[in-house]
Amino acid sequence: MLKRTWMRLAAALLAAIANFVTVPNAALAAAPLHHDQAPGFYRLKVGDLEVTALFDGPGVFDVNWLNGEKTKDGVLKALHDDPHLLDVADAGYLVNTGKQLILVDAGSGTWFGGGKFGHLVSNLRSAGYTPEEVDLVLVTHLHSDHIGGLTTQDGKIVFAAPYIKAGKWHTFSDSRQIVDGMQIVPLRGHTPGHTGYELSSQGKNILFWGDVMHVQRLQLPDPKVTVVFDVDPTAAAVTRDQLLRKLASEDVLIVGPHLLFPGLGRLHKEGGGYRWAPVAFTDQWEEK
Ligand SMILES: [Zn+2]
Ligand SMILES: [Zn+2]
Repeated sequence: MLKRTWMRLAAALLAAIANFVTVPNAALAAAPLHHDQAPGFYRLKVGDLEVTALFDGPGVFDVNWLNGEKTKDGVLKALHDDPHLLDVADAGYLVNTGKQLILVDAGSGTWFGGGKFGHLVSNLRSAGYTPEEVDLVLVTHLHSDHIGGLTTQDGKIVFAAPYIKAGKWHTFSDSRQIVDGMQIVPLRGHTPGHTGYELSSQGKNILFWGDVMHVQRLQLPDPKVTVVFDVDPTAAAVTRDQLLRKLASEDVLIVGPHLLFPGLGRLHKEGGGYRWAPVAFTDQWEEK
């Protein structure tokens, strides 16, 4: 009796498997493609600071924006084998100090890029904040891919608090009055006043380096490569050389808005250049 039951069960299972193996091709083909992406933010802890990278949009650096005919020729050749060599990004960074909500750089907004940029605000909302909550916007410099996101095309203020409460706009020469535990880091060469911001908390350091680097896959192996947006390319290269050397010997988390998103990592010396060690994705908030 028992044996017959088992045999019936086995036969039923075989029939089920036979059905199963004949079906999957049709089932797989029918599954719709999902073209949407995870929200463009990444959060990490630096001491007591909560830092959230906010994606504004993807970009490809134009080869003609590089200085030097030799560099351009070399890159054009390299692009045949490595078409993603010049991939870049644009991002801004939200720092919640527990007392203040600070945005470092505001992305491009809708000012150029044909709709590719301008996603920073929606990603900020996805990250659980609103633009009105932002107390302070720090800009590394005045290029449009860093300040474009401050206003809409019809002139509206996007991050309400800093303009209304703080008298709209301040320049500075000293960081002490701006944010507790923050140093300004002058980064000469890219633009007049190009400035990095270094924050420290519980012995952990994070540096927002602005446009020290545009194309990491070119400028890490060869930091001498400069771009047409550098007002003083020679000074920009010297600044980069000195800064990279220093950072490779320190445990500083580096933040670069044009590095591959989320643009957070550390540097190590490698040959005549540097190797980027990106932060690894984790869903664990407390560091072990
Ligand atoms: Zn710039
Ligand atoms: Zn830039």
